[in-house]
Amino acid sequence: MREWVSLHRLTSLRVGGRARFLASPDSADRVIALLSWAKREGLSRFVLGAGTNVIFPDPGYDGLVIDTRRLTGIRMSGTRIIASAGEPLARIAWLAARAGLSGLEWACGIPGTVGGAVAMNAGTREGETADVLSSIEAASPSGPIRLDPGELRLGYRESAIIKGDLPIVVTAATFELTRSEPHRTVELARRLIAERRRKHPTGPSAGCAFKNPSEGPSAGELLDRAGCKGMRVGGAYVSELHANFVMNEGEKNASEVLELLESMQKRVKEAFGIDLEPEIIVCK
Ligand SMILES: Cc1cc2nc3c(=O)[nH]c(=O)nc-3n(C[C@H](O)[C@H](O)[C@H](O)COP(=O)(O)OP(=O)(O)OC[C@H]3O[C@@H](n4cnc5c(N)ncnc54)[C@H](O)[C@@H]3O)c2cc1C
Repeated sequence: MREWVSLHRLTSLRVGGRARFLASPDSADRVIALLSWAKREGLSRFVLGAGTNVIFPDPGYDGLVIDTRRLTGIRMSGTRIIASAGEPLARIAWLAARAGLSGLEWACGIPGTVGGAVAMNAGTREGETADVLSSIEAASPSGPIRLDPGELRLGYRESAIIKGDLPIVVTAATFELTRSEPHRTVELARRLIAERRRKHPTGPSAGCAFKNPSEGPSAGELLDRAGCKGMRVGGAYVSELHANFVMNEGEKNASEVLELLESMQKRVKEAFGIDLEPEIIVCK
């Protein structure tokens, strides 16, 4: 356990002040012990994966941040992959593709951990975590639990975990895939990655900033038509390639990123009367 640890290096946007406590447990038992400790001490806690969809505010986090990236291990059994929460999602997606197991090709280009993908129900137009998730193991203050996907209430980039209704730490996930041919699955993964490279900017970001509305144009189209490309607040700016990507040239400048996100939302509201919902999680 470390104290007063700078969080900006742990997020892809490079923002955030310091955490009062940061722990990097390497087993589910240690996660459970940490949850009990935080409860006893009356500390709030935040579960961190690879930090590719998170903004920590500039004043930091006055509680316990549990960094899950040391929860590692992957097992393959027939058409199943059982992966610990800290494993990179793309690693298991590539393992599956090379083994000719289909269902996770869309994930080969997505940053983040397995635990983050479950909590966010990460996905693309080609598929999402919920399509292939068979069960999860998790830590709660009262001990280890096993849950079916239905109990997680996975929706479009949301879950009962994200909503705060299920205060657990995902420690492992089992994915059920479909038997195919390696040349097909690898070819599909490569094609999807090439498409992403064409459409997505590179550099510090947190991926898409806002969710797509349930109908009509995508968030990216709305932001583009509202003239958001190139908007800037300090080091934070909207990509010229994709209007739903907030990029960051700065560091520890969460307030600039948050101000920019608010201005983008406002422009779309003024232009189209639509309230865009953030996809990025702001840790409070
Ligand atoms: C360049 C780029 C491209 C992206 N493209 C996509 C995309 O195409 N599709 C997509 O869906 N997302 C995309 N993202 C966003 C992000 O990669 C995903 O949301 C990813 O699943 C987040 O995983 P993470 O490990 O980084 O989670 P974090 O960002 O660390 O956390 C996200 C949320 O999940 C919770 N969480 C994390 N781990 C656990 C756990 N073990 N147990 C309980 N809760 C947990 C956190 O508390 C937080 O609320 C992109 C991001 C970037 C930077």
